[in-house]
Amino acid sequence: MWYPERGTTDSQRGAPRYRAAMTKRPQVTVLGSLNMDISVTVPRLPGPGATVLGSAARFTPGGKGANQAVAAARLGAGVRMVGCVGDDDFGRQILANLRAEGVDTGAVRVVPGVPTGLAMVAVDETGENIIVVAPGANHEVGPDDVAAADAGDRDVLVISAEIPAPAITRALKQTGPTILNLAPAPETTAAANAMVTAAGDHLDWLVVNESEAAAILGHPISGLVEAAQAATDLTARGPRHAVVTAGAHGAALASKDDPASKHAAEVITGFRVHAVDTVGAGDTFVGALAVALAAGVPAQEATKAAAAAGAAAVTRHGAQTAMPRPADILAATGVAWPVG
Ligand code: ADP
Repeated sequence: MWYPERGTTDSQRGAPRYRAAMTKRPQVTVLGSLNMDISVTVPRLPGPGATVLGSAARFTPGGKGANQAVAAARLGAGVRMVGCVGDDDFGRQILANLRAEGVDTGAVRVVPGVPTGLAMVAVDETGENIIVVAPGANHEVGPDDVAAADAGDRDVLVISAEIPAPAITRALKQTGPTILNLAPAPETTAAANAMVTAAGDHLDWLVVNESEAAAILGHPISGLVEAAQAATDLTARGPRHAVVTAGAHGAALASKDDPASKHAAEVITGFRVHAVDTVGAGDTFVGALAVALAAGVPAQEATKAAAAAGAAAVTRHGAQTAMPRPADILAATGVAWPVG
């Protein structure tokens, strides 16, 4: 395992790790949620008290943590998933699916007497959706799971936020490179801020989308220019790197490690693709970023590669089903995946 020295620049940090990537498979651990997604297509979304008839339900393994694990595995990392499922059929299906993707599920705890997490998704004909999540076993993630996440061989730890806040806060105290994907952001700006500020510059990477950045900073953010300012503002609260993703517009990266940038954010303009379903773009971005960083790819190149992965994901339907392999990224965006 190789950990960056505090205070070194990305180019200094990148070089030895990139060479190391030629000989060793990057190792990523994901601490986060596992859900069964139950999706129904409806002609229009129901209002309060209304019933609408939809399509046959589709059952697909999801949860942001599990999605990120699958994205990372498809892009060449050895991946360990850490989290909780219930002792039920949904839990078993989720674990079987992760294993089929090559993800190590040995540290996923099966909690008796608690249902596996569920996400109930209604999508209308315009692609607008309503999602209700019943966290179930994801709420059981606690200190033992954080310890399990810390125990294994890893180059990068992804902390995904659909688990209890105390577990996130505890995980942020671990040593070694971490990416916090604060999605969803805590409900109040004060709580979101407290989490980010408490981590301080112990946190290597904070990755959020526009609405999550808005929740932390307390004002709306829209488009790449505002995302860039938000990324800079977020690094001022602690993390050494902050990325604000902005859907089709692309992503902005601010870094405290590059003195030449004076904390100004770099923008990565979105790749022009034919988007058919944007579900899972953010999870793909996070999983891809983790793999690239674990392999020692420098920050800006890793962020651009992650944006290309996110763009490739929106060209296909579904969350995990749409997650790209290197050849899919190349075909959709012309970007050669920098790992492997
Ligand atoms: P989330 O799914 O968390 O809301 P975003 O929608 O910001 O995240 O998407 C994450 C990344 O995926 C973006 O930064 C961008 O690089 C890529 N992406 C998302 N939607 C599109 C799109 N329509 N066209 C091209 N790239 C996209």
